[in-house]
Amino acid sequence: MSRPFLVADLGRIERNARAVTTLCAEHGIEVTGVTKGVCGSPEVARAMLRGGVTSLGDSRMENVHRLRAAGVSAPLMLLRIPPLSRVEEVVTSVDLSLNSELAVLAGLSGAAQRRGRVHPVILMVDLGDLREGIWPDDLLPFVAELAGLPGVRLVGLGANLTCYGGVIPTPRNMGRLVRLVEDTEKSLGLRLPWVSGGNSSALPLVAAGEMPSRINHLRIGEALLLGRETVARRPWPGTTQDAFRLHAEVIERKEKPSAPTGPRGEDAFGRRPELPDRGPVERALVNLGREDVDVEGLMPVDPRLRVLGATSDYLILDVGEAADEIRVGDRVAFGLSYGALLAAMDSEYVEKRFVGTPGPAR
Ligand SMILES: *Cc1c(COP(=O)(O)O)cnc(C)c1O
Repeated sequence: MSRPFLVADLGRIERNARAVTTLCAEHGIEVTGVTKGVCGSPEVARAMLRGGVTSLGDSRMENVHRLRAAGVSAPLMLLRIPPLSRVEEVVTSVDLSLNSELAVLAGLSGAAQRRGRVHPVILMVDLGDLREGIWPDDLLPFVAELAGLPGVRLVGLGANLTCYGGVIPTPRNMGRLVRLVEDTEKSLGLRLPWVSGGNSSALPLVAAGEMPSRINHLRIGEALLLGRETVARRPWPGTTQDAFRLHAEVIERKEKPSAPTGPRGEDAFGRRPELPDRGPVERALVNLGREDVDVEGLMPVDPRLRVLGATSDYLILDVGEAADEIRVGDRVAFGLSYGALLAAMDSEYVEKRFVGTPGPAR
């Protein structure tokens, strides 16, 4: 009896990372490998490092601690703006953090000073995607105040696009970031070593040769894990999309009508699904549900299978043309969206298996 299991192919993740870091290096860009999609898995982090990322980034302190506890010694960047209540932990646990609030920076400054440290920070600017970041008009007064905080050192500017507002990186908005860097440098009389242009959605601009040359850093997660850019979710050249597979077991296999019988109200999640009568359906129930994963993000690997729906504990499949081959006890494999991967990694009901070469400790 086995739980559903998620297989991570470390060799494929390494190859994905190499494809991305090689392209970026050709354009003078260093890559931070983002591990938040895999809950800071040290195995996956090491595969990314073997593939050429020079540092790691995560949004959660718990994941940072997981990486450090496993002996991963590469530089670590905190991607989510630090909470004011955890500044002490931030300065002692990560090598750099992304920031957008002076109150937090003052907290980081104090915490760093008490330990005789200087904490490097990148300021995030909001280029219109409306997630985190300082509004461009407010940047110069902000950096003037930051310059008065001794325990933190400004080492660059960054921006994050696409995640919330769906804004696509363009020569225009990336050019804006570069001008903000130049304005900041002029006002402070120093040179900023890092210009962190974005995430997996920036890759098409890099490949097109249209990324401004001052952008020298990207923070990449999805392209390394799932082999896709994130503007149109197209497979990225040189990567594979099958580094992760989720396997579940068929626990019921029957033919049933497609339309429910009897008067109908809401389903278990307060919805009223449309289940039109399409005649009898060859179905399989597998031991995965909404409690285990983000079922909307599961794609059966066998193209003959189709997800009909899910409840907390069951995923219901139309097995169609594969009806003669699929029996109770068989395994069914699924590809995953970023959200489904995250949920599966996070679920105690899903076993994690790592295959491919285990790398040397780093
Ligand atoms: C999650 C995150 C990334 C990585 O995004 P991908 O689309 O997975 O490449 C980069 N930067 C920040 C600030 C993030 O929160």
